[in-house]
Amino acid sequence: MFLLASAALACSTVPREHPPAYKSLPIQVRHGAGTVYNLNKEAGEKALHQLARTAKLEDYWIFTNNQWIDIGVNETPDGVNGDYEVFKKFAKGVVTEYHIHPKTDRTIYPPSSSDIIKHVDLKLGLKQHGISLESKVYDGEGEWTYTVSKDIETFLSLKNVKRHDKTFEELFRETVVTATVLFIDSENNPRDQLIQRYIQKVSDFGVYLTYRKLR
Ligand SMILES: [Zn+2]
Repeated sequence: MFLLASAALACSTVPREHPPAYKSLPIQVRHGAGTVYNLNKEAGEKALHQLARTAKLEDYWIFTNNQWIDIGVNETPDGVNGDYEVFKKFAKGVVTEYHIHPKTDRTIYPPSSSDIIKHVDLKLGLKQHGISLESKVYDGEGEWTYTVSKDIETFLSLKNVKRHDKTFEELFRETVVTATVLFIDSENNPRDQLIQRYIQKVSDFGVYLTYRKLR
């Protein structure tokens, strides 16, 4: 009863917040790749952080040569693919790739094993063209960056080599998924603590994550 009363009170007395500002964000989720945004890096990152709070679908962009380019295709609520032809067309010198994990009621939503594998594949491919790669994901609460150790890079490049009937990629995926399940499913843990434990755990496997909380 008390809860009901206070909820009603909250509705009637607290002024409604302004409608979400995502409609006017300078970067939007768009079906298909190729949209170019002339926006500096900081402004674009800020927009993606806000976008992750309201977006219903994942999407994927790069920042390179002072431009933002949408390279996402097949956008779904829990995945997005990249158009690497568009990527190649624009990539110059240093590329930062970004995607969003739309905010849900999951406690934490770090880069997935496929995000990390994609990062490594892309990084190795770009290296031959003298291009360096940085990878980030926004989850509506903050910013994850992700990369891996040299050993993991080598490990994942040995795609067709099998150990116990599994490719290294499959083994790696299982390892990261195990860590995810271990820590995300443990309830009653403060979010910050879960994040720190998760970062610690995957670093034992050579996956290096950072997390920066954003307002
Ligand atoms: Zn992801």
